[in-house]
Parts: sequence; C-alpha cells; structure tokens
Amino acid sequence: MEEILCPGCGERVLLQGLKIGDRIDCTNCADLTLRLEEKDGQYILVDIPKVSCPSCDRILEVPDGLGRGDVMTCCGVDYMLTYEFGAYALVPYGKDEKN
Ligand SMILES: [Zn+2]
Ligand SMILES: [Zn+2]
Repeated sequence: MEEILCPGCGERVLLQGLKIGDRIDCTNCADLTLRLEEKDGQYILVDIPKVSCPSCDRILEVPDGLGRGDVMTCCGVDYMLTYEFGAYALVPYGKDEKN
C-alpha cells in the first residue's frame, strides 16, 4: 500500500486505491482538501485552494485553472478572485481593479 506525505501536516496519508485526480481529506488537517496528482513519475498531494464568499460565507473551491483576476460567481453575484497574503479572497467585481 502506498503512502504519501500530506503537504499540510507532513503526516503520512494512505492512498487506499486512489487514482490521479481523486480527492482525499487528511484526518489531521480538517479544512484541507487534497488532490492526488503525478509529477515526474511520483505521486504528490496538492492542496485544493478555497475561498469564502463574502456574502454567504460559504467555502468555495477555486476551480483548476482559475487564479487572480478571474471571476467566480456565488449568490448570483460575480466576484473577482484576488490572492493576497497567501490566501484567496473574493471581491465584488469592478470594485478593486488595480490594472
Ligand atoms: Zn495533513
Ligand atoms: Zn455566496
């Protein structure tokens, strides 16, 4: 059985038949969701970024490929994704354009 180190706490996580692209929750890291990926022929765990909606406080996953300046929608409102101090945040679209 393969084991892999959690990037959050450094503890071993059992792969238990997971495949590339599958998600896993680390038992030690309550708010961390990890995804199994392969890099240079080795399995790695990548932490799925999350952001909370400023309106309803729901925790949303930042979809693959989205980053700073992209748009996410929640509560019927478009928000712009920003990345500051190591974390994502959503700001109402059009209010914080710094380009
Ligand atoms: Zn962990
Ligand atoms: Zn919302």
